[in-house]
Amino acid sequence: MKNTERRRFLLGIKWENPWQPRWLPAGLRDTLNGKHHSRDFDYARSDYLRTRVLFVGLAFTLLAPMWILVDYLLLPLELVAEVALGRFLLMLTLFGVLYSAWKNQNQLNRIRNTLAAMLLAPAVFYGALVLIYGSQMTSLVGYSFIPLLVIAFLSVFPLTLTESLGIGLLVLLIQLMALLTTGQLNSAYGWQDLWQLVTVLGISLWANHSQVSTLMRLYRQASMDSLTGLLNRGVLLQQLHELIRQRNVLIENNDEPASPICLLMFDLDRFKRINDTYGHSVGDLALQVFAQILRTELRKNDLAARYGGEEFIAVLPGTPKSDAAQVAERIRQQCENSSVTAHDGQQVSFTTSIGLTELRIDEELDEALNRVDTRLYAAKHQGRNRYIDANVPT
Ligand code: GH3
Ligand code: MG
Ligand code: MG
Repeated sequence: MKNTERRRFLLGIKWENPWQPRWLPAGLRDTLNGKHHSRDFDYARSDYLRTRVLFVGLAFTLLAPMWILVDYLLLPLELVAEVALGRFLLMLTLFGVLYSAWKNQNQLNRIRNTLAAMLLAPAVFYGALVLIYGSQMTSLVGYSFIPLLVIAFLSVFPLTLTESLGIGLLVLLIQLMALLTTGQLNSAYGWQDLWQLVTVLGISLWANHSQVSTLMRLYRQASMDSLTGLLNRGVLLQQLHELIRQRNVLIENNDEPASPICLLMFDLDRFKRINDTYGHSVGDLALQVFAQILRTELRKNDLAARYGGEEFIAVLPGTPKSDAAQVAERIRQQCENSSVTAHDGQQVSFTTSIGLTELRIDEELDEALNRVDTRLYAAKHQGRNRYIDANVPT
């Protein structure tokens, strides 16, 4: 889609993601997969996932050895010791899961993998028992319960449907293999077992969908500015602190050279005049159009927020200052070329002044914010409708 077409599309009433298949019901768009979730929603979701992985992981880790007592009551004695060894290995894996969840705050991919490991470890343990004991498995009382338990546990987590289905199908595959190995696949028991698993998987998927969509709705309400749909100031500052923290961790570990983070601050020019001449509702419309320009010109990983009345801020991680200056210039031009329609049909145009700075490694965020603010007001003093990316004598 060409930029202008895309912008026209984005200026529609609803913020639609142009890459989502059109046949998908609206309710499923947010929950099918996380490809189009924003970076800040990813943070929020990874936080929920992490808390639950820690909680459930701890329960699993404690239950794994405690179950040995149940084995003593239910299993033939010669099997108890062998199975206990497997349980010990499972417990070690679960310790690894707990450690990984503890370490990886705000890292959605890692938390997701940790969660998959936590749920698949008991299923793999069960699969290994089936391979070792074959048709003797029927004497391992209580073990065929594991796949059902794992699939039911999927419902506890705010996973997207694709993530949940992926883990669920792997567990189903393990159970299919188990039924094949024990010769039960073609029996009434085998069919009943699969039927139960598929049904519970369906219920878990429904629970996942409800959780992710509720989380998304609450998150939008709490983090977005209702007029423009951009982030609000509080969330932006929180995300910016998190970006800086992550960059400092990388610098400390000497993993990579410090990746640049640029800040752009915008203030619409002579906005009072627009309000006074055409009314507040036209001013509101201009703010919405400006927000759409930001969405169009920024990348998925950038952050954009309404900082105050008609002040906005954008954060461009991984972008050097020279590239950020090009972005600033594009936004300035787009703004200059846009207009909103007043009640009498008149086209009302507006412009923006922009301050630009790159965050220095060893400074406090407040210093960078003060610098970008000073540059924004230098842009005002130099005649507005421009960007300033260096300190200028006042
Ligand atoms: P300058 O070029 O120096 O920035 O001039 P300005 O008139 O834009 O001055 P300033 O930035 O101080 O003005 C902010 C105005 O923005 C004042 C207020 O009426 C208006 N404003 C703030 N929030 C909203 C809003 O939500 N809707 C509308 N319509 N106007 C708003
Ligand atoms: Mg202002
Ligand atoms: Mg202004």
